[in-house]
Amino acid sequence: MQTFYLIYFFIIGIIFGSFFNVVGLRVPEKKMFESQRSYCPHCHHTLSWYELIPVFSYLIQMGKCRHCRKSISPIYPVMELVTGVLFAFSFYTLGFQWELLTALFMCSLYSIIIVSDLKYMLIPNRVLLFFLPFFIVMRIIVPLDPWWSPVIGAVSAYLLLALIIIVSKGGMGGGDMKLLALLGIVLGFQGVLLAFLLATLYGTIISIALLSMKIIKRKEPFPFGPFIVLGSLTSYFFGENMIHWYITTFF
Ligand SMILES: [Zn+2]
Repeated sequence: MQTFYLIYFFIIGIIFGSFFNVVGLRVPEKKMFESQRSYCPHCHHTLSWYELIPVFSYLIQMGKCRHCRKSISPIYPVMELVTGVLFAFSFYTLGFQWELLTALFMCSLYSIIIVSDLKYMLIPNRVLLFFLPFFIVMRIIVPLDPWWSPVIGAVSAYLLLALIIIVSKGGMGGGDMKLLALLGIVLGFQGVLLAFLLATLYGTIISIALLSMKIIKRKEPFPFGPFIVLGSLTSYFFGENMIHWYITTFF
């Protein structure tokens, strides 16, 4: 039965991931509610249902538009798969409990944000505002210990990044600040600080790797949102174990 639900959440995740791709692409361009169906960005050919099957269509068409043969960015099928894996992993870790909803909301937010930050270097306010009430309600239903930890988490994340933005004169954006503050509600005080530390660690390692492989240039702006996402995921799913390990090892 466990396997059945894992597959179920994986498939639901892939389907939602496909929808989140569209949200992440359209919200920054303020096209969310346009009635036009998905189309090829090169030749504007409207996609039919069999070109819209998540992951599958991409593989069948070998990553190319059926009309103009131009390549489709692999980020879309990859994000669909990632969302599927995150949904299944959330269920695997939490099982059927209220907190599973929080995890699914959080992973949904991540998928949308990665797409829009990679594509436009932008984390849309409207996406963050949309998730805010859900996270607040979920932290009332499933409070952290102590119950005010999410409040302190959100405020300290906001202030910390505001300080970094002022000192670094734009090393990070206002979108990153608001995203981390929002995640403070989900992760609580300890969790969001750990998420931020991990995000800077991942960001440093990956930017050094990309610089040395000459994939990016020095001083080139670099979306930080995906690293906040990676840091938060690690913190959310493994943070308690990490903090426990740290305290028992060093104190
Ligand atoms: Zn095309």
